[in-house]
Amino acid sequence: MVNRLAIHALWTALVQAWKLVWQDAGERQRWAAFVPHCDKLLVLARQQGLVRLEAELMPLCELLRDTPTPGAESMAAVDRLLPDVFAAVREVCSDHYHKDDAERSHGLPCVVMLVREARQWLELVPQLEQLGYSLSIFSNYRLGMQSAITQRAVAVVVELGTVDDTVVMNLVDELNRYGPKWFALDREGTFARRLHAVRHAAQGFFTWPLSATMLADAIDPLAFKVKEEPYRVLVLDDSPTVLASIRKALTPFTNIHVRTLGQPAGVLDAMEDFSPDVLLLDFHMDGCNGLEVAKIIRQNAAFESTPIVYLTADTSESVQLEAMRNGGDDFLTKPISQAQLANTVISKAERYRGLRRLMVEDSLTGLYNHVKTKALLQQSLLMADRQKASLSYAILDIDHFKVVNDTYGHSVGDKVIRALSRFLKQHVRRADVVGRYGGEEFVVVFVDSHLEDAFHKLDQMRQIFSSVQHAYDGGSFSVSFSAGVAGYPGYGSMAELIVAADEALYAAKRAGRNRVMRASTTLPVAPEAT
Ligand code: GH3
Ligand code: MG
Ligand code: MG
Repeated sequence: MVNRLAIHALWTALVQAWKLVWQDAGERQRWAAFVPHCDKLLVLARQQGLVRLEAELMPLCELLRDTPTPGAESMAAVDRLLPDVFAAVREVCSDHYHKDDAERSHGLPCVVMLVREARQWLELVPQLEQLGYSLSIFSNYRLGMQSAITQRAVAVVVELGTVDDTVVMNLVDELNRYGPKWFALDREGTFARRLHAVRHAAQGFFTWPLSATMLADAIDPLAFKVKEEPYRVLVLDDSPTVLASIRKALTPFTNIHVRTLGQPAGVLDAMEDFSPDVLLLDFHMDGCNGLEVAKIIRQNAAFESTPIVYLTADTSESVQLEAMRNGGDDFLTKPISQAQLANTVISKAERYRGLRRLMVEDSLTGLYNHVKTKALLQQSLLMADRQKASLSYAILDIDHFKVVNDTYGHSVGDKVIRALSRFLKQHVRRADVVGRYGGEEFVVVFVDSHLEDAFHKLDQMRQIFSSVQHAYDGGSFSVSFSAGVAGYPGYGSMAELIVAADEALYAAKRAGRNRVMRASTTLPVAPEAT
């Protein structure tokens, strides 16, 4: 079987070494460090019968053998050969990352870079691939732009100040017409350049140095747009005319779902069933008033923070103040204008959704927080029990993370945490749960998954993640994680699963870190040599 991981790791190291050769202008020792990477890759390609990779590597290795002392000419020659080697590596590795994930079989979203010197950015290609994007780099701007359009790139990064400005701006204007969003890349990031970029509809502005994670952070919202569910609006009013007019006024807004209710008695059931983002509540009804209904609603913990907007014909300030004191969030005075109604409904609903998100999300990573993760684990267990399915629960902890903070600073540490969050989300199935348990600890619930499958998946993820390069001011570094995984129904309750996975994690730490261990058997898996 082809060992893609080993090939990928070797390629990453090779690119890294090549960058150093360039940085030190072909310095002898750098060159000497670079050569063995190519030889090792050639040996691996031969062993594994990768004909194309071997064919692309042979001229490179021959050239290196004949060139003990590097010069400008030999460096340029290597630089010309590397893209073909890369194409071959890519062919070998491309289906690797998501090969067992049918959801992603349609390929990675594509990013294009237009830059002065392609080689300077080559190392971003494998890194960005690990973050879920395929990156193509061009130093011919026009060619690159055409490729971006035909490949339907999600984003194009354009280095400024290299080609004539008017030519570049004509190109980005063309891009803007065809759809892909563009980001500026500039050494200096002066105000004038930024202004220029903004005037040509740049989505963002990068300055040196640009890391793969920075790029991915900026592109993620474009590539993985989450379609918001329509806002749900419940209207309680005893006048059928008012109900009909509100429904009519909100009909043009496809992002709003309306449900109407003519009787206050049904309000709790409707709240329960419809789970509205906003309640529009008539102030004067037959038999009771809006204030009383609001109090009944607020006595129910689940609806404590649902926005309530009163509808009233009464414009007196004292009545409105009284209503606001009693759990109301806003007022709409009848007759209500369509614009005012839509505006109020949307802004209240947006705010409410945002608040609810804050309650379940971890602010640094956007993953589920501790409380929500546990609730989802409990829910997944109930479902597994009902469907007689299995489930696996894993806890991960970054190795020697304190050292990362101490060496590179807390903000670089934060970036590593975010990189791992993104990595986890991208490597598990959509139905699986990924949460941040706190600090540098994460949880994954593999639903409908046997212990062995989850274990292998996790171990594969561990190997890939440990080769991801994280940037800091002075270069880059890599980190690993350890994990413990326990399976249901082997462990029958949430408490047992958590304890068992925790124990396996600590066994993995004690055994030397950078490994995954299963609960109960706790058989170690040695990290793969790279
Ligand atoms: P081990 O391999 O045993 O897990 O060692 P470790 O250094 O990773 O573990 P330890 O628990 O000693 O240190 C964890 C560190 O993580 C300490 C804490 O300052 C840091 N940390 C926790 N939360 C955050 C965060 O949100 N951002 C950053 N940058 N660091 C954090
Ligand atoms: Mg740790
Ligand atoms: Mg820890």
